[in-house]
Amino acid sequence: VHELAIAESVIAITEKAAAGRHVTRVHVKVGHLRQVVPSALTFSFELLAKDTPLQGAELALEHVPAVGWCSRCERQSELEVFPLVCESCGALDVEILRGEELYVDSLELEDVATV
Ligand SMILES: [Zn+2]
Repeated sequence: VHELAIAESVIAITEKAAAGRHVTRVHVKVGHLRQVVPSALTFSFELLAKDTPLQGAELALEHVPAVGWCSRCERQSELEVFPLVCESCGALDVEILRGEELYVDSLELEDVATV
């Protein structure tokens, strides 16, 4: 299960970065080519976050569209589905510029109010 493994690494990275502080929101960038099912990832995240400092944290997924560069016609095109082809000339050797992202972009931590 693809999403479960991703959720595991997101949690591991976040826990380390948060260093015991309570996390309210985790921003994750997900490239189109990763073929992640957002609802499955959110579900896995919530499941694994139980009883950790991440419990109750919101997973904010940002979808990054896939963009490729075609050296044959020297055009950039958005890549929607596999196989990845240039939408102008149909060439298969497009260079991926964006869409392979998968990382924790930022965290929002709970304000620790000092009394
Ligand atoms: Zn082309």
